[in-house]
Amino acid sequence: MKREYKTVRCMIHLYCRDHHNTGKELCQDCQELLDYAGLRLRACPFQENKTTCGNCQVHCYKPSLREKIQVVMRYAGPRMIWQHPVLAIGHLLDGLRKKAGPKKQLK
Ligand SMILES: [Zn+2]
Repeated sequence: MKREYKTVRCMIHLYCRDHHNTGKELCQDCQELLDYAGLRLRACPFQENKTTCGNCQVHCYKPSLREKIQVVMRYAGPRMIWQHPVLAIGHLLDGLRKKAGPKKQLK
């Protein structure tokens, strides 16, 4: 859980820095997104057993913010491998582990 949050935080920072020309601080939008991501992680019913949010069966993000976080992850994901190899690889492994399981349930 903590690692997931850390990963998301790194990704948002990376994205914000490259897209919004902010320095160390996040712009307000991205800060909001990060706060929301942290909130969702804490509220996630899977807690320690959860996989990455990208594969999560419970789509717990609000649609607008989910879209945004997906854009951030798509941008920052590959870059994370160079900047934070341990975090990125852990994140990828979580994703792989999940894909071996049952497909996401249709409602
Ligand atoms: Zn930003």
